Amino acid sequence: MTGRLSDLPTDCYIGGQWRGASDGRRFNVEDPATGELVAAVANGTVEDGLAAVAAADAASAGWAAASPRRRAEVLRRAFELMTERADEIAELMVRENGKALADARGEAAYAAEFFRWYAEEAVRVLGAVGPAPAGDKKILVLHQPVGVAVLVTPWNFPAAMATRKMGPALAAGCAVVLKPASDTPMTALLVARILEEAGVPPGVVNVVPSRRSGPVVSAMLHDPRVRKLSFTGSTEVGRMLLHEAADNVVNASMELGGNAPFVVFDDADLDAAIDGAMVAKMRNGGEACTAANRFYVQRGVAGQFSGRLAERMASLVVGPGLGEGVELGALVNAAAVDGVHELVESAVAAGAAVLTGGSPLEGPGHFYPPTVLGSVPPDAGILRTEIFGPVAPIVEFDDESEAVKLANDTEFGLIAYVYTSDLARGLRVSEALEAGMVGLNRGLVSDPAAPFGGVKQSGIGREGGHDGLLDYLEKKYVAVDW
Ligand code: NAD
Repeated sequence: MTGRLSDLPTDCYIGGQWRGASDGRRFNVEDPATGELVAAVANGTVEDGLAAVAAADAASAGWAAASPRRRAEVLRRAFELMTERADEIAELMVRENGKALADARGEAAYAAEFFRWYAEEAVRVLGAVGPAPAGDKKILVLHQPVGVAVLVTPWNFPAAMATRKMGPALAAGCAVVLKPASDTPMTALLVARILEEAGVPPGVVNVVPSRRSGPVVSAMLHDPRVRKLSFTGSTEVGRMLLHEAADNVVNASMELGGNAPFVVFDDADLDAAIDGAMVAKMRNGGEACTAANRFYVQRGVAGQFSGRLAERMASLVVGPGLGEGVELGALVNAAAVDGVHELVESAVAAGAAVLTGGSPLEGPGHFYPPTVLGSVPPDAGILRTEIFGPVAPIVEFDDESEAVKLANDTEFGLIAYVYTSDLARGLRVSEALEAGMVGLNRGLVSDPAAPFGGVKQSGIGREGGHDGLLDYLEKKYVAVDW
């Protein structure tokens, strides 16, 4: 690695110690834009996972008893350190993940904001008290930390998905063990180093990178000291982990896959809709759970919308994420390129027209061009699968009820986007959409102060906002006479 990236942590962080895996093994992290080795990272074992749980358990009572103000100040300091070191964090994410530097900078700032927001929330853990209806007692409700939390995060937002979990967990008074994605483990280790510098006591934050995710996470979920699982990743893996969590009835929050519809009515401001489409589709190169996955455009404006979107997509600068002016970096690995291309080929076979892009770019590196598919048949497989790449399939519709029906025709329900200049229609459609979040005349909704999460098979629970804090607190009811 070059320059300031040469001094980054690559070991497990357990009980305040940086150490290699218990069997000494390491795994390679590669730069998706070049295939070059970024670093060899400790490949955590089941023993390491359980040692991290033991360290978290030992630190738990002390952290829960620390004053909310103290916890807040540690988080605030972590926010400041992340902000000071945003360039370093962004550059590391480009090297591990392949995303364009502009996306990585946006993520570094967004990730730091979770520490700021939860520094502010740590001092607002309020309970409730009131008279029972019969007047025989008081009902007192306390909020207490849920206990040791296992956090499992994906590769697409290596910093933000870690801070979105660690921020509220630490604010609530929980100790954590984080298992980051094995494509991008170093960003989480860097965040842990920052938390260490910010004054998080040993054992309160532990990070176990591993290529042996299944056995490591399973062993932790079967350890009775673990009381919470917070997972962000695919619905497929999330479903398996819910089964695992069931054995010890571990409290589980799940942020899973999406299949976001982007609905454009013919009364929409088309300039705004195109701008919004570019953000909703192309933020993070399309590798986002919130990425617009299916465009439904009312027939009267479909031709115009498709042509303009194709033009904007074709104008994007594609290349290695650190390159000058690059707007779309590499996909995370070769399998991601193959998966995206298979979906495009199947859509074309079903009758879709390629308006721009449509086949992988030459290596080195894992690049796929911005692609727009027009006239996609409403039953095409690409509309049922999370694309996770820079591909926009467009389907035409005739009226509002058809649009809502098409948008809801999926087992996912994370987010939906609606563009219309008729506010009543916008609110009516927002209400009818089966999604945890709606962008109404907006292509970007993520905000640390807002409850982020999905319905249906997109998840359980919310991250961000005050709700994110509640996900790490248990309610205790005390029936009291005084
Ligand atoms: P993934 O499900 O493959 O992996 C997520 C995490 O689970 C990684 O840390 C991985 O190492 C771990 N993992 C994989 N198999 C495991 C197993 N058998 N047992 C325990 N842990 C295991 O997901 P990904 O490819 O890293 O991320 C992309 C997915 O994440 C997409 O589906 C995307 O929609 C979703 N995502 C959702 C949100 C959200 O907030 N809803 C945010 C970002 C990403």
